Amino acid sequence: MVTTSVIPVLELFQETGAYLKGHFRLTSGLHSPEYLQCALVLQHPRHAETLGKALGEGLKGLYGERKIDTVVSPAMGGLIIGHELARAIGARHIFTERDDERKMTLRRGFQVQPGETIVVIEDVITTGGSSAEVVELLQAAGAEVVAAGSIIDRSGGRADLGVPRTALVTLNVVSWEPAACPLCAAGQPVVKPGSRPT
Ligand code: ZN
Repeated sequence: MVTTSVIPVLELFQETGAYLKGHFRLTSGLHSPEYLQCALVLQHPRHAETLGKALGEGLKGLYGERKIDTVVSPAMGGLIIGHELARAIGARHIFTERDDERKMTLRRGFQVQPGETIVVIEDVITTGGSSAEVVELLQAAGAEVVAAGSIIDRSGGRADLGVPRTALVTLNVVSWEPAACPLCAAGQPVVKPGSRPT
């Protein structure tokens, strides 16, 4: 696992039991021997605050002293870190949800105005698909998406959202097609992170 980080983020994951080792089936369908469960770090408000501040610093490297009006996160994963980042940079925080057709939307009366400056935040970026949808939604509403960020970038830096992007930790995650998975070959049960063995 290759990492880059401005604060010892992986230590926080290890301390809180959020750095899991085993045999995991990722959302992509690939299998992996390790998994970072952000929710287990973010359950501790002091760690969430630390990560929010660190992300705020990292983002400044992208947009300098520009005033950011709003942080927008896709639910659920982006909620806590988005809120902590917004606190750190003095912005408001709103979130998107998927509607019945799985389309990312702003609900609950959340609105953005033309010209509003926005950063889009997730806990983990894998392909960047969710964040890219949020960026598109906001741009269609006339907002200016200044940057995007995440605690973890599992794409090895490859995810492209069409806006400047930063992450506290960039990983090249080891993963295999199920048919080529050595852990499957060894007969080890595979688990979906956050659930019981299947
Ligand atoms: Zn496997």
